[in-house]
Amino acid sequence: MASIRNLYGLSVEELSEALSPLEPRPFTARQIAAHLYARRLLDFDRMTDLPAKLRAELARSFTIQLPSPAETLVSRDGTTRYVLSLPSAGSVEAVFIPSGKRATLCISSQSGCALGCTFCMTGTLGLLRHLSSGEIAGQVALLMDLHRLRPNCFNIVFMGMGEPLHNYQALKAALRLLCDRRTGFGISPGHITVSTAGLAPAIEKLAAEEIVPRLAVSLNATTDEARSRIMPINKSYPILSLMEACGKFLREAGQRLTLEYVMLSGVNDSREDLPRLARLASSLPARVNLIPFNATPELPFQPSPMEQVRRFRDGLLKRGVRASIRASRGPDIRAACGQLSFGAPGDGAAGTGRGESAAGKNRRASDPPEAAMERAAAGELVAR
Ligand code: SAH
Ligand code: SF4
Repeated sequence: MASIRNLYGLSVEELSEALSPLEPRPFTARQIAAHLYARRLLDFDRMTDLPAKLRAELARSFTIQLPSPAETLVSRDGTTRYVLSLPSAGSVEAVFIPSGKRATLCISSQSGCALGCTFCMTGTLGLLRHLSSGEIAGQVALLMDLHRLRPNCFNIVFMGMGEPLHNYQALKAALRLLCDRRTGFGISPGHITVSTAGLAPAIEKLAAEEIVPRLAVSLNATTDEARSRIMPINKSYPILSLMEACGKFLREAGQRLTLEYVMLSGVNDSREDLPRLARLASSLPARVNLIPFNATPELPFQPSPMEQVRRFRDGLLKRGVRASIRASRGPDIRAACGQLSFGAPGDGAAGTGRGESAAGKNRRASDPPEAAMERAAAGELVAR
């Protein structure tokens, strides 16, 4: 038997084509898109402005399937990590981050990641697969439903699993679903931040798109030598080419750009790194978000001491660069930046199927979860 096609994620044009055997009226595809994305009605029976006969035919010929929660973990700070089963196959993770002002949804663009940054647990998985536009937008729809969120009352950050610009077409299609004001979710691009490890040509391409989100660029080092050691992508797009692409993005897109900087002890937090970081940020100009490293026993790095992170922030501010320190949210349930890898809380193997399950073992003296949450509670840090 032929498999029944999942309509979720199709654009108006793709819906038109998929529906053509049913000989719908010219505007039916737009009506269905508005139901799926603007109203988030996921049942043909509830699309009551469609003729009953068409609804019955739709239900016979198609399905509407989104990622669905297989596991839910709630942090002491309220952050919730979802392991989601994908409609076609495989899993991915998404994170809900509550905050006093507005919540943040941390969304994935791929299951795993191909880029292999050496400080990131997602990188240890390798690329399991790209997500489709429906699987990306579907994470937003699911979290909105679970947490009863209205459009534009929350932020979306593509800081979950994967490199969004390595899955460019699906990201672009998902942004259209999320941002279209008539048939989409109606979310403003200014409420969406795409984080990238620095695929320079794709940054330039994004700047010229119809929908341009905010951009966060994971700089993470101030010399090519240090950056190539921790981010292999730097060998293809070294810092100079990355800065050129960022400059072009700022000039052409008129959208905000932030440099992210994960602070790794003895790797990128030296006395010389600070002025170099300030120079790179001022040359754009861009603000800097310093990220305390979220340690896990599998990764061969230590977080920079918090005094050093503060010294960097203050030094940047003194040099006229806007700078903040990112709050580490949900580190106790492996929901924080760079920790998404299907791991159980306190699980040293992090679900990779490799290594021993090290519940509680090997935890560093600088055990980050408690310390980070104390700092977050003290209001010192900003959410991602
Ligand atoms: N692939 C994209 C988006 C996902 S990673 C990117 O690399 O930008 C989101 C952010 O988490 C990036 O800024 C990345 O540098 C940071 N990150 C990765 N591993 C981390 C870790 N262990 N601790 C803190 N931040 C980490
Ligand atoms: Fe991939 Fe980003 Fe992790 Fe690097 S930091 S491995 S690009 S998810």
